[in-house]
Amino acid sequence: MRTIDLRSDTVTTPTPGMREAMASAEVGDDQFGEDPTVNALQDLVASLLGREAALWLPTGTMANQVALRALTRPGDDVIVSRECHAMWHETGASAANAGVQFTEVGEHGVFSRDEFDLVVKPRGHATYAPTTLVEIENTHNRSGGRVFPQAAAVAVAASARDRGIASYLDGARLWNASVATGLPPSQLAAPFDLVGVCLSKGLGAPGGSLLAGSSDLIARCHRYRRMAGGAMRQAGIFAAAGLYALDHHLTRLADDHAHAAVFAAKVATGSGVRLDPEAVQTNIIVFGLGPDAPDAATVVGRARAKGVLMFAIGPRSVRAVTHLDVTRADCEQAADTVLSVLD
Ligand SMILES: *Cc1c(COP(=O)(O)O)cnc(C)c1O
Repeated sequence: MRTIDLRSDTVTTPTPGMREAMASAEVGDDQFGEDPTVNALQDLVASLLGREAALWLPTGTMANQVALRALTRPGDDVIVSRECHAMWHETGASAANAGVQFTEVGEHGVFSRDEFDLVVKPRGHATYAPTTLVEIENTHNRSGGRVFPQAAAVAVAASARDRGIASYLDGARLWNASVATGLPPSQLAAPFDLVGVCLSKGLGAPGGSLLAGSSDLIARCHRYRRMAGGAMRQAGIFAAAGLYALDHHLTRLADDHAHAAVFAAKVATGSGVRLDPEAVQTNIIVFGLGPDAPDAATVVGRARAKGVLMFAIGPRSVRAVTHLDVTRADCEQAADTVLSVLD
């Protein structure tokens, strides 16, 4: 039985072409700034995101953590979307490393300028933690890969700028948002001071994330990357995979989105399933299980026994993610499996 792994878009393995690019990469000591492949990737991503400079980091979590260090001080307040990655999936790192507190706003991973303005805490107040950063996640993982509407991103970032609040875009899946909206990554990134992107999600590289921003800000990030133990040596082996991924795996994300739509349309017909297929915009499907359906652990366990892997992301919610290593037929078969385990 072939396993269809929909747990995450991080489960892909490097293709033969990608492995070849890694094997033949020109490398050097990146701590001396001498890895030509890392430098080429940093330059390319800076230009794709319309920024002066970019910095390679091993993981997206480190990118988020370095961003918090570079843009806040301990005790500050950071306004984020509800159920954002930095708050739910980084093991408390934001409190441990940057020492910030979060204020969650909005619904389904998105929020408006009005919602933002209502929870901003001023500097210099006798009791408030000053809000010094707003972070937007696009696409938003736990809400099912939802795209943050660009007009709202522009309005929130403008309000933040007026108040002297910095802005950060967690764009681990910004490439998906770009393909789904038809807007170039540079336009999606434009409202923000600092932008993080991952190469190890839908793009299929074995690792690597980048932060992009002004040269001054990236210089600050450089220091905090080192502090986090993330300064590597011949990282060009990884960077080569990233360059290959941007060349070969970017436009095909549209396939993943189409496959997610196929999966969602079928699963939404299941009894007790709570899922609006229209709300599936990219490669992530999060579906709820009503009171008459089995719980998430049961559905995931039964599906696993039939060769389909998914994640229980809550007691009654399941996540499935499409990617490079699953076909349309796999997604149809996986959806049939889900329907068969709901009774
Ligand atoms: C995956 C992800 C990250 C980074 O995760 P790593 O596993 O550390 O690479 C950051 N933000 C979001 C929204 C993510 O989905």
